[in-house]
Formats: sequence, structure tokens, C-alpha cells
Amino acid sequence: MPRHNEPGSPALVHRTARAGLRLTRGQRRRLLGLLMSAGDVWACVLEVNAWRKARQDTPLVSYQALCRELAASGPACFGELDTTGARSVLRRYSDAWFAAAARRKKGDGSARFPRRRRRMMPARWYHDRLAVDGRRLRIPVARGCPPLQVRLDRDLPYPPGRIRSVTLLYEAGRLWVDVTAEVPVTVYPLGAEPDPGRVAGVDLGIIHPYAVAGRDGQALLVSGRAIRAEHHQHLKDTKARQRAVTRRAPKPGQRGSRRWRHYRRRQQIVEARHQRRVRQAQHEAARTVIGWAADRRVGTLAVGDPRGVLSIDAGRRHNQRTRDWRVGHLIATLRDKAELAAITLVLTDERGTSSTCPACRARVPKPRGRVFCCPHCGLAGHRDLIAAANIAGRLPGGITPAVTAADVTHRRAGNHLPGVSAARRDPRRRPHHGDIRGSPGRHLPAPTGVTAGRGVARLTARTS
Ligand SMILES: [Zn+2]
Repeated sequence: MPRHNEPGSPALVHRTARAGLRLTRGQRRRLLGLLMSAGDVWACVLEVNAWRKARQDTPLVSYQALCRELAASGPACFGELDTTGARSVLRRYSDAWFAAAARRKKGDGSARFPRRRRRMMPARWYHDRLAVDGRRLRIPVARGCPPLQVRLDRDLPYPPGRIRSVTLLYEAGRLWVDVTAEVPVTVYPLGAEPDPGRVAGVDLGIIHPYAVAGRDGQALLVSGRAIRAEHHQHLKDTKARQRAVTRRAPKPGQRGSRRWRHYRRRQQIVEARHQRRVRQAQHEAARTVIGWAADRRVGTLAVGDPRGVLSIDAGRRHNQRTRDWRVGHLIATLRDKAELAAITLVLTDERGTSSTCPACRARVPKPRGRVFCCPHCGLAGHRDLIAAANIAGRLPGGITPAVTAADVTHRRAGNHLPGVSAARRDPRRRPHHGDIRGSPGRHLPAPTGVTAGRGVARLTARTS
């Protein structure tokens, strides 16, 4: 239900952060029990609607009608799950049903109504039933059950008074909470607020997730090489893992061996960790851009949207590259953070921006390297910054940015990733032989000529 805000109150946005949980065995069992009870609620709704369909009745889909049905079934039907938690599942079902109905009405035949049972479903509770105190979180349970207090594995980025809801979920073998809070849009001191007339262009890329060109040659380059390396390592690791177990893969209709299920579970954990790493790096990159823009009072970010051409099949390798890029997430995080910082984000067409000279408007074949060089007027510059400058120039009423970047800030995304520095070696990487950075590497083979086996003979080999 949307909250009513008094007129004149500061603008609010809703933001969600995920935190892990530090749990005892008993707490973990109880939380999993809650999620399975939520899965039971989901299964009940599916069953009710299957019955209704069988007797050609209209399905029960509105949230209110489902809540009435839940109330009629009486309290304590779903283990320790309280009414609010059960209702959140009904809300999820109702939303999914209506979303599918809307898509089908628009002519999308691939939209499906919710029909699949789940062992566990996420459950959500609202601020009036929660208690958050530092890292401690009390999750509401059904009446008569002992209270359930759990510990978060990090401090939440929001003050406790701002928290609106908490969603408990299970992903890749771990329990998480998604904490949603309402956050006021940044208010700047007078004279420091972003000026909508100051436009900066943003070019999205793989090597540089964000290349930003502002006025007076001010520019920002965020390097994404660490993210690309993470993708590369992950792909290599996944392939090696797959190669090792293909012969254990179960045949259709067969139940997988214990070893196989162990492999599947491990793969899910590794996959989830990889996704988390990339997401985190992309969030940090977006934050860098917004911080840079706010410092320079940039009020409008023009972002070149490349998504129009991504559906074209470009071959196996390039398709993998574009998928790993996750450009939709790059745009979404930038938009969210811009909104919070009171900066406007405008999506523009980016076609031809990296192959047009901003000085003489001549078409230049897309450079292969990072350096753009115009054969007509001799202009040279960083390819991504040239593209960003072109994007800024496309905005109606936008400024003409300085053509050459005079003041470039360089930042790296993904400084937390393994393998970025020598101090944090990526265990997926091949060990370095004789590297001074401390990796022992693989054991070298025994020196040739010594044919001794174990025991006494080895002693002589060592002393010789
Ligand atoms: Zn030129």
C-alpha cells in the first residue's frame, strides 16, 4: 500500500540491501521451516485454484480474496509462519498472476500464470512487526512460538527508523534477508546542488563499464578489467568442473548420484558467488560515476543505450561477452543511484557515437584499440570518451562538450575481486612457478636419476 506523504516533505526513494545471516543450527532450522511453510502457502493457493479450474470456477487471484480464504482457514495452519508472512506469499501470487494476465492481454503468448510448486518461498514482513537493533533482527513468528532473533553479518546501510520491510529468502544454499528502506533524496547545500544544465555523456562498455565525458574536458574512466577477468576465470573454472563430472551425469529419468548432486550444489554456490562479485563491482562503479558527477554539479547524465543491437546473434564468443556485460544492470544501478543523488538520467540512442568524429562529424571506421584517431581532421583521443562526448552532444538542448579530455580521472571497478592485487591471489588461477609473490605453486617433479623409493633410500638421496 503506498504511503501518504505530507506535501512539502522531502522526496523519498525505496532502496534494498541484502545481508547474510549469522545463525545457530536451531535458528537456521527455524528459518528454513518458515520458508517451507511459505512454500506450503504457495502450494495451497495453487491447489485451490486447480480445484476451482476443475469445476470451471473463476480463479481466486485478488489479494483481498486470498486473504479472506487464509482467514477462513483459521490460525496456525502453516507452522511458525505468522499471518503477515503468509499474506506476503499471497501478495506474491496475486502480483505474479496479474502481471502474467497483463502480458497475455498485450498478446504475449509466452507469459505463464504461476503454476509451479516451490519447496521454499520468500516471506516478507513489514516494519511494524519487526525489530532491528544494530545487527540484531527479530523476525515475527506465529503466536505462541518462541521469539526468533537472528544476527546479520553486516551493518545495514540504513538507519533502523527508515526500514520498511524485510524479506527472508534462500539462495544457493544460504539464507539472506533483503532489507528495504525509504531513503530521502540527497539535499545539497545551496550552491552545491546539481545543475540540470550541466550535461555529461556516459558510454557503456565492457573494458570501461562507464566512460563519462563532461564539460571543459573533464572525464572519468572506470576500468572494468577486473570484472572481465572475473568472468574469464569463472567460465574457465565452470568448464573445468563440468569436464570433470560429465561422465557422472545422470541419464534422463535417472536420479543423480550423491557425487553428482554434490557437484550440482557446489556449482550453484560458485555461480551465486560469481554473480554477487560482479554485481558488487558494478554497484561500486556506478557509485564512482555518481560521486564524480555530484562533485562537478552535473545535473543530467546522458546514457547511450546499446540494448537495441544486443539481440542480434554475433557468434558464440561475442554472445557470451555481451551476456557477461550485464548492460541492463549497469543502466539500472546508475539510474537508481542518480535518482538518489537528485541527478536526471536520460537514455539516448548510441548508434554511431563511437565511429563519429566529434570535431568534424566525419564517419570514422570503429577503431580496434582504445585510441580514436580521425583521418580527416587529425583529432585523437580515448575511444570511449569520444563516444561519451558524442552522446552528451546528442541530448536536445545539451551542451557541446569539450572535444579532447583534459582532466581524466581513472578509477577501477572491482577492487575487492580476487586476483586484483598480489596480496589476494585468485585460487582459480594457475599457480605461479617461482613467483616471488608467495605462491608455493605446484610441487616440482623429483630430480631425475634418483630412482629411490621410500624409506632409507630417500635419506641417501637427500644427503647426496
Ligand atoms: Zn575529425
